[in-house]
Amino acid sequence: GNTARLQAISNITNRIPKKTGPTEPLSKIWASDVFNLATMENALSKNAFKAIKKTVETGAPLDPATADVIAAAMKEWAVGKGVKFFSHIFYPMTNITAEKHDGFIVTNADGHAITEFTGSLLIKGEPDGSSFPNGSLRMTNAARGYTAWDPTSPAYVMNTPNGATLMIPSVFMSWTGESLDKKIPLLRSNAAMDKAAHKVLALMGETEIATLNSSCGAEQEYFLVDENFANARPDLLLAGRTLFGASPAKGQQFDDHYFGAIPARVQVFMQDFEDKLYRLGIPAKTHHNEVAPGQFEIAPYFEAANVAADHQQLLMTLMKSTAKEHGFLCLLHEKPFAGVNGSGKHVNWSVGNATQGNLLDPGNTPHDNLNFLLFCGAVIRGVHTYGPMLRAVIASAANDHRLGANEAPPAILSVYLGDQLESVFNDIKTGSLLEKADGGEMDLGLSQILKFKRDPGDRNRTSPFAFTGNRFEFRAVGSSQSVSGPLVAMNTMLADSLNWIALELESALADGTEKAPAVIKVLQKLMDLHGNVVFGGDGYSSEWHRMAVEERGLKNIPTTADALTAYKDPAVIELFESTGVLSPKELASRFEVYAEQYILSIEVEAKLVIDIATTKIYPAAISYLSTLTTTATSLSGMGIAFGADTLKAVSAAVGNMMASVSDLKDAVETHDFESEEAHMTFCAETICPLMLAVRSEADTLEGLVADELWPLPKYQEMLFIK
Ligand code: ADP
Ligand code: MG
Repeated sequence: GNTARLQAISNITNRIPKKTGPTEPLSKIWASDVFNLATMENALSKNAFKAIKKTVETGAPLDPATADVIAAAMKEWAVGKGVKFFSHIFYPMTNITAEKHDGFIVTNADGHAITEFTGSLLIKGEPDGSSFPNGSLRMTNAARGYTAWDPTSPAYVMNTPNGATLMIPSVFMSWTGESLDKKIPLLRSNAAMDKAAHKVLALMGETEIATLNSSCGAEQEYFLVDENFANARPDLLLAGRTLFGASPAKGQQFDDHYFGAIPARVQVFMQDFEDKLYRLGIPAKTHHNEVAPGQFEIAPYFEAANVAADHQQLLMTLMKSTAKEHGFLCLLHEKPFAGVNGSGKHVNWSVGNATQGNLLDPGNTPHDNLNFLLFCGAVIRGVHTYGPMLRAVIASAANDHRLGANEAPPAILSVYLGDQLESVFNDIKTGSLLEKADGGEMDLGLSQILKFKRDPGDRNRTSPFAFTGNRFEFRAVGSSQSVSGPLVAMNTMLADSLNWIALELESALADGTEKAPAVIKVLQKLMDLHGNVVFGGDGYSSEWHRMAVEERGLKNIPTTADALTAYKDPAVIELFESTGVLSPKELASRFEVYAEQYILSIEVEAKLVIDIATTKIYPAAISYLSTLTTTATSLSGMGIAFGADTLKAVSAAVGNMMASVSDLKDAVETHDFESEEAHMTFCAETICPLMLAVRSEADTLEGLVADELWPLPKYQEMLFIK
């Protein structure tokens, strides 16, 4: 046989790593393509620079006159780098990145071409956004979206084979000013958190309080598969994951016979990729550790959440395009291979400012520690109160395959604090810390207990939401997702909790109570109400799944179909409205968009399952069956007994597979659901199990049909890249 699969194996055997030029020193390339504050300091007048610096540091709006000055300097800088085009880059509600390109060139009346770029072009671009999902926020006949530079995120030059383009990170809104994107809510959530934090810090007696910002460092996992294999797998190309494929038996030795040249190719890819990131000012640090074969991780250092979110999007785009240049398909899907570790994106998050520092970092004085305990308590309350909302922001058809599998956090939101901090909060809950205070221990023992050491051994990998020494790490986020949704959720729940704490603290302090006992009193009430969400045990265990739901009253929400309904919960609507992060209308449009995406992605997969089973697997199985039948017939003609076990097994599996295909076809053609919720439930409860039914017979066939006839590259072939 000469299947695409065998051809792919032969092609890969002859591959050599792509040559890349010698790398330049980091000092020379670092942020060399970014119009950042350092660049602006040289390019702008003192006053203009002061204005933009203030905007970057505090989020204050940029005045039109300064915008003009900056636009001129930005253009000059970009043109000096050979740029002819500029593009607003923005982040629609899907996880993608979108661009709207324009030329600097304008021809004037006398026929001369001039380059033009003004403040108003920088601040306002008009892409035809009609094809981006926007829920029902706009009628399509009024489909005009506006983009405007987010000056807190620097512009940069993107070099592609088609030339260099000035990229302008932008917000994307409707003509009525509603957010159609993932950036506006992130900026708003930060402002809400800042405002609430100010109240709490002021009550704590802080006199100088700089603007608070959230920080994010995202660890990105991904797989690389050789493009020759990918090209022979329509499921990988179109759905980003394998819809078929027997997982290699546990402990099976992968055969590295064909793959000698590949590790070098991956190294070269990583180096090339890192260089590109450095030029764009993305502080990347690749990890070469792989959990599964063919799986890798990259973790940039943390940055301001808003910049980190833009950088995350850029990183994902660049990772895919660079992988392609090196002959790989880069898979960001949460579960590309069944039975093999999936990919997540750990979102490390903290909040802080220039005056109080990182508020999730326990400090050296009791006073610092009181602030720390309040912010930490606020997180605990947030996760407990809005757990289902946190589950909703990471919900996707793809992430459903990963959450709750025994390698990824469960679909139950709990908080891991570590032994030390958990015991402090337990003492607060039981009142024993307050007793210490009555006993005259002025600092409540805080200065002794809270000397944390970041201890990697102490970290519980089974928790979806873990304290890791000076930040929280949201581990249930999926590898393909934008980090904006999770960051918005965390900032907003924190804002809400800090508002609650401010009210409680104000009344606790009202009668002249000292700060320390007042804080502990507030936290005791908080732990009484919300302490159930703190869990330090094994999140994978079935005992936890039972206990969480039955004893702790937490929710286990395994599918997106159930998770997304959190967007319709009145308490969640109120949360986003009261903090000013999303209006009820904006929130409702998010439900619509995400529900539609969920349904669409499952429908695409179902159609692929039908197509691949019918046109690739069925013919291979029939062809093998025909060989077996011919052999059996001739043997029995000669009076020789033929063990027909395989023949029968293949025949049965083919029959079962096609019966399930037929059921799946009927299911896919079902329409007219009474609601989006009903449609999503149908996808989760009817279509997904039918896809699995087809797959299970196909995977049985993979173990029966002659290797040379099998059309799809097998798991051990695709995965064995080191
Ligand atoms: P892990 O041990 O979890 O694999 P890594 O070092 O790979 O840790 O990644 C940790 C991530 O957390 C990095 O992106 C790092 O920059 C980020 N990080 C560290 N401190 C903070 C902080 N205070 N706030 C936000 N992110 C942080
Ligand atoms: Mg981590």
